[in-house]
Amino acid sequence: MATDSIYDVTGRIFDIQRFSMHDGPGIRSIVFFKGCYLRCRWCCNPESQEYGIQQLTLGGKTKAVGRDVTVREVLEELEQDRMYYIRSGGGVTLSGGEAMAQPDFAYALLKACRSAGLDTAIETTAYADRDVVERLIPYIDHILMDIKHINSQKHIEFTSRPNEKILANAQYIARYCAQHSNDLTIRVPVVPTFNDTAAEIADITRFANELPGVRQLHLLPYHRLGQDKYAGIGREYSLSEITPPSNEKMHELAEAARAVSSLHVQVGG
Ligand code: SF4
Repeated sequence: MATDSIYDVTGRIFDIQRFSMHDGPGIRSIVFFKGCYLRCRWCCNPESQEYGIQQLTLGGKTKAVGRDVTVREVLEELEQDRMYYIRSGGGVTLSGGEAMAQPDFAYALLKACRSAGLDTAIETTAYADRDVVERLIPYIDHILMDIKHINSQKHIEFTSRPNEKILANAQYIARYCAQHSNDLTIRVPVVPTFNDTAAEIADITRFANELPGVRQLHLLPYHRLGQDKYAGIGREYSLSEITPPSNEKMHELAEAARAVSSLHVQVGG
């Protein structure tokens, strides 16, 4: 690492969201990292994908997306809500983008949170080299890991990357979590035309069910909340032809998952 102190390590984020209830247990602050290896066609944060600082125009207003911060600065912001974390069993969640795509910053931030006694979580797709996963995982209390599709070709078609590295990392992470009693939840974004058949969800669930230590599977319905942001950064939204799955459909898929596993399956995060 280029600096002596973890508190001086610099990273690039695009937001810190306070008082979140859906990104790990309790009330949490979410640190959104800039940059992701994947290009999921349904991504609701398209401004997170590029590491470079971008201009986003929404409602006639343009703002820069992305800022460089030190771990010290982020920690100071996170500390403001310490009482909420303690009272609710919450803490800090690294999200993005992909936190594992900035491994030095993620490592330093997680370590600083641990030193400060803050509970830590990560939302990740774990498309990362194994040494990155090994370095970060000892400092993460709760892992919320996406598995989007078992078929690698389809994974490439909708996310731009194959899934072998992700599935191999999922096995490593699950073994680690089982041995160290860390909390691992598998999440599946359910996207029409990509993975919204009972057979596709069952395939993902079977894989998750074989992982040691996984108890929860969350099916997250596709939504269009980020659609306007594509135009806002000068890109086309490629999924405008599809509509979000109905509640009925999501419950059918949840039943398909329950039929092939002993996992606790829920719709939504
Ligand atoms: S992994 Fe997440 S942040 Fe990255 S492109 Fe996919 S949905 Fe967006």
